[in-house]
Amino acid sequence: MKEKIFEYQGLYYINEKEINDLKVINNKLYYKDYCDKCGGTGHISYYDWYANGVCFKCNGAGYKYRPFTTYKTLKGVERAKQRKIQKQLKYEKELEIKKQQVIEELKTIYVVNPKENTKQLKGYLKDIGCVWSGKVWYKNNTKEFENIQIIKIDITKELENLLYTLVDINSTKGRLTYISNIINEKIQPIINKLESIKYNTNLYNYNINEKYTFNITEVLSKKCYQSMWGACYYYILLDDNNHKLKYKTGRNLDISGKYTATIKDKEDELLIVTRLTQIK
Ligand SMILES: [Zn+2]
Repeated sequence: MKEKIFEYQGLYYINEKEINDLKVINNKLYYKDYCDKCGGTGHISYYDWYANGVCFKCNGAGYKYRPFTTYKTLKGVERAKQRKIQKQLKYEKELEIKKQQVIEELKTIYVVNPKENTKQLKGYLKDIGCVWSGKVWYKNNTKEFENIQIIKIDITKELENLLYTLVDINSTKGRLTYISNIINEKIQPIINKLESIKYNTNLYNYNINEKYTFNITEVLSKKCYQSMWGACYYYILLDDNNHKLKYKTGRNLDISGKYTATIKDKEDELLIVTRLTQIK
């Protein structure tokens, strides 16, 4: 509703509609505010057994006169109106900034791979700021995940509908908890895919010390360890024949596409490879 200017006994006030019960005392305007506890009757029948049911909020009066902001001139009231508009504009501007901050904060979420032993990791995940969605653990940065496998998801689009609520939540943890439904919806297809992979355990065609071509479709896991020679990375890779390959290197790589590699060994249904070289 739009606010209008009204006048009562030479005093101007702004409101959505004209107020009927007004009173001027010492050049100040008061309005009759009916008690919300008793509905203006001053009496609550439910409490008849106690103090004759007199409403304790208004002491039986049913209303109270409250001061109302007024202006002595029309000019004054116009200025007040302008101030109100400016305040509203400022509020909207600040809200927009807050919304952008929330998008920046939450647009990228890191979910702990459900294949990890999250029961055992629970305490640690909590400590590093992860939130439980009912399905997975997640947070909005990669800090302190160490060797825990994570899946990165982008939820920029999904955030749009929740922004009004999210700016009112004060803590990052609170905001993270609020978006758990989004996380569950986004992660379910990924979980389904992970669970549906049937690994190819037939390794007969591969001979130790021979070189083969592999088309790597996915990095199933990548773990980094510190050794006396520096960082060491262990990769478990999946090729387009659903063979699992284990590869160890000192380099942090993004492995995807066609490679040649030499079979070093076969172990527990996976191929241990060395000299992994990308085919260009
Ligand atoms: Zn009352």
